[in-house]
Amino acid sequence: MEHPKRIGFVGLGKMGRPMAANLIAAGFQVIARDVDPAAQESFGRQHTCTMAASLAELAAESEVIVTMLPNGKIVRDSVLGANGDDRIVDSFPKGGVLIDMSSSAPQGTCQLGEILAGQGIEMLDAPVSGGVGKANEATLAIMVGGTDETIQRCEPILQAMGSKIFRTGGLGSGHAVKALNNMLSAVGLVGAVEAFLVGKRFGLDPEVMLEVINSSTGRNNSTENKFERYILSRAFNSGFALDLMLKDLTTAVDLAKDTQTPIMLSALCRELCASAHAVLEKGADHTDVARWFEDLCGTHLAKEDEE
Ligand code: NAD
Repeated sequence: MEHPKRIGFVGLGKMGRPMAANLIAAGFQVIARDVDPAAQESFGRQHTCTMAASLAELAAESEVIVTMLPNGKIVRDSVLGANGDDRIVDSFPKGGVLIDMSSSAPQGTCQLGEILAGQGIEMLDAPVSGGVGKANEATLAIMVGGTDETIQRCEPILQAMGSKIFRTGGLGSGHAVKALNNMLSAVGLVGAVEAFLVGKRFGLDPEVMLEVINSSTGRNNSTENKFERYILSRAFNSGFALDLMLKDLTTAVDLAKDTQTPIMLSALCRELCASAHAVLEKGADHTDVARWFEDLCGTHLAKEDEE
């Protein structure tokens, strides 16, 4: 089986940048593009790759195109064009594969895959988990939906960016798992913030609480990996934006509606995060949600000497 070597990479943001760099480091020929000229210029300066002047140029040069964009609508617009402007579909050769590694909505992914199949183009959805840290280390968890044959052809590409590759089923299944994972992760974060605020108002030391909880049954990814580093430290700089978490929660709630599944707790979590998003500054980190809860109850989780 021939493995593709020429990769078009679209979206050089917090995640796309290290992921594209890892493809280059693994020996792939990368042609990259970001709509933001500053992102495009700095990536081109630091890496040995071609920078594309347009999506059409990138598509013409690529066997596989990886998209790492904010959401599925932007992926669709980049592929099919919004109002007939610069787009991938016309110049991407037949037999090419589009791998959408963004956290997109699965319903849109299935529709896009069908349109592309009509043009002789394959599609995989391969969203990731692990954040900027694991993107840097090329140890992302990657959940891949699509046909076995296309996944096999593209496996070396995925292996260059991640260390755990899960086959989740047909096209759209990776995006569905990703949205549900992030829904659960958000519920864990919000639940933990509430528990810590009650504890602080009772007079508990958040540091002591964290130590106990991380050795007890209430621990979760937020208490283990986010509280000390981003919330108690007041850094709020995880690299995963609140607007992206809200998008993922909305995707998961829509999926629940489509499958007629009642999800009261997660739907409430989405509303809480939407309220925080409406109030917090543009570009807020998802861990800034803790600040919104703190302001609601007038209690801060900062360490005593930082208050
Ligand atoms: P980001 O906002 O940092 O990067 C997105 C990049 O896409 C930006 O550089 C932007 O200029 C570019 N872009 C936007 N529209 C474009 C277009 N039409 N053409 C070309 N480039 C365009 O976002 P991110 O944090 O890198 O996240 C990317 C995706 O990965 C999202 O779907 C997100 O939900 C998902 N994700 C993020 C994390 C994380 O920790 N940040 C973790 C897992 C998954």
